[in-house]
Amino acid sequence: MSLDRAKICPVCGAGNDSRFDVCRKCGASLTDVAPSPEVPASRGMVKALRISAAITFVVCFFTGVLALGGYAMGLPQLSWVAGLALGMLQLGLAEGLDLLQKIHDKLEK
Ligand SMILES: [Zn+2]
Repeated sequence: MSLDRAKICPVCGAGNDSRFDVCRKCGASLTDVAPSPEVPASRGMVKALRISAAITFVVCFFTGVLALGGYAMGLPQLSWVAGLALGMLQLGLAEGLDLLQKIHDKLEK
């Protein structure tokens, strides 16, 4: 995690690298914005991982359901097991990152 200081866009609230002078999302000027000690990059990653895990669960569930009427025996089960494993892996990563983040915050204060 190299990004430990960030500029929060005053217009859209997006987190930007402290080296940037314009918001990467909306293009607003960040020259007057002081870098915050927050780590929005990894916060965003935790959120993204959770969403990604949820999508994995849903997609693999429906793939399995669709495969039920299909040709290959064992394919629905395989899809569900794989989806569950992948989803849990992503959730685990998200929780791990979240925990690291909280420890980091505690140490900083
Ligand atoms: Zn912006």
